[in-house]
Amino acid sequence: MTTIGHLINGVNRSDNERTQDVYNPATGEVSKQVALASKETVEEAIAAAQAAFPEWRNTPVGKRAAVMFRFKALLEQNADKICELIGDEHGKICHDAAGELQRGIENIEYACGVGELLKGEHSKNVGPMIDAWSEFQPLGVVAGITPFNFPAMVPLWMYPMAIACGNTFVLKPSERDPSSTLFIAGLLKEAGLPDGVMNVVNGDKLAVDTLLEDKRVQAVSFVGSTAIAEYIYTTATANGKRCQALGGAKNHAIVMPDADIDNAVNQLLGAAFGSSGERCMALSVAVAVGDQAADELIEKMAAGMKPLKVGEASDESNDFGAVITRQHQERVIGFIDSAEQEGAKVVVDGRNPDVKGYENGFFVGATLIDNVSTSMVSYQNEIFGPVLQVIRVKTMEEGMQIINDHEYGNGTCIFTRDGEAARYFSDNIKVGMVGINVPLPVPVSYHSFGGWKRSLFGDLYAYGPDAVRFYTRRKTITQRWPSSDLREGVSFSFPS
Ligand code: NAD
Repeated sequence: MTTIGHLINGVNRSDNERTQDVYNPATGEVSKQVALASKETVEEAIAAAQAAFPEWRNTPVGKRAAVMFRFKALLEQNADKICELIGDEHGKICHDAAGELQRGIENIEYACGVGELLKGEHSKNVGPMIDAWSEFQPLGVVAGITPFNFPAMVPLWMYPMAIACGNTFVLKPSERDPSSTLFIAGLLKEAGLPDGVMNVVNGDKLAVDTLLEDKRVQAVSFVGSTAIAEYIYTTATANGKRCQALGGAKNHAIVMPDADIDNAVNQLLGAAFGSSGERCMALSVAVAVGDQAADELIEKMAAGMKPLKVGEASDESNDFGAVITRQHQERVIGFIDSAEQEGAKVVVDGRNPDVKGYENGFFVGATLIDNVSTSMVSYQNEIFGPVLQVIRVKTMEEGMQIINDHEYGNGTCIFTRDGEAARYFSDNIKVGMVGINVPLPVPVSYHSFGGWKRSLFGDLYAYGPDAVRFYTRRKTITQRWPSSDLREGVSFSFPS
């Protein structure tokens, strides 16, 4: 059976280490093994990155950008293979994997403009014959730790910009679907990246802790669940590292009485059930304002859900695939059970989907739950499955209060025809990314991505302009070339 190893100093290798099963979620069978790096293996990757840094940081910015141009082209040429690797291990359908890859490539395109992004600031004559400028220098060795749900896109949020800025990188992808991430990183060598600049170590907590503790690692970007994000942020910053740690989510959509319900239903179907709800921006709660809107929403959602097809990743006619593991399937079903026990009404029940030929797969069908309340366990937790819960409220303010009280603040959306209501909503909602009749307001690559509250630990968002700031350190230089006519005497006053 294939073992997915590491990429260290330009060499693909698998050491004689612990391994873990990798599953095909549609069949429920073990398809590969993944190596779990030892402390020594991770330290070797850090050493390779450290050794590659001096030369890479001094490589002209145009040459660094040229690597990114070639990398983008290689990803496009290899798109089918990448989507197949994603589908086999994550379970998402090819068309969805292609969308993920495209959003990842957009981050490479942004990194291609790194020359413009690193231009810095210059002021002439800030004093007699004195000029000053600020420049943005790379940090050194930077680490990324990524989740299972976007094995291509989320790593691409991180290392293209980090590397384009002159850093070297060690990536620790999710051990649950490691193949596409490793394959993509391997293309950087073909794109002309020198060995050691990009390294990938597969592994678990041991690999992560080694990265967090090693003094050579200057900064850590993390994306994953909130409990781990908080641990990563606390540990990395206690060890003197810069850190951004993006966590979990519970994304609400307010459906106003004046909304175009047919449109809202179409948008909600994709945003709630696409990728089996395993997206940090998935809309998992619809907050319906007024019983009339709620009744119409429930009726039309239930009708819209009837034809949805859950199944295997390579069949493009499927709408969404299996969830990542058996354990996660049981957790999602457990949340549906608990909502029912606590008094909510399961309107469409996906607990026993019939997926012919894939009876052992980790499938959950699309599920719709009405009359959910904020005290329910299924409301308070991130379900991360194809489950849409509906909360009924009387006013928009009541709905907004519910959203603002939730511990997460990643994404949200309002469906309305009322511009005043939409403006009030976007002004006052305590959430990092807001959609107005846009269900998944994932910012484009030249804006930045991040949530509020316990959806993000740290000050800077992921990708976009914030990534340039995260992966560089400002240095301000004040310069004078003394001339013989302007020689100054000794002064003990503060220069002004
Ligand atoms: P996870 O937190 O289980 O794992 C993320 C990474 O952390 C993996 O590389 C994993 O190996 C590592 N890890 C796991 N347990 C660890 C531990 N005890 N110590 C150190 N490292 C550990 O997340 P997941 O299940 O892979 O991904 C799903 C979660 O990620 C969801 O909560 C989702 O909302 C979140 N997510 C958030 C965003 C965002 O931008 N906010 C984007 C994608 C996913």
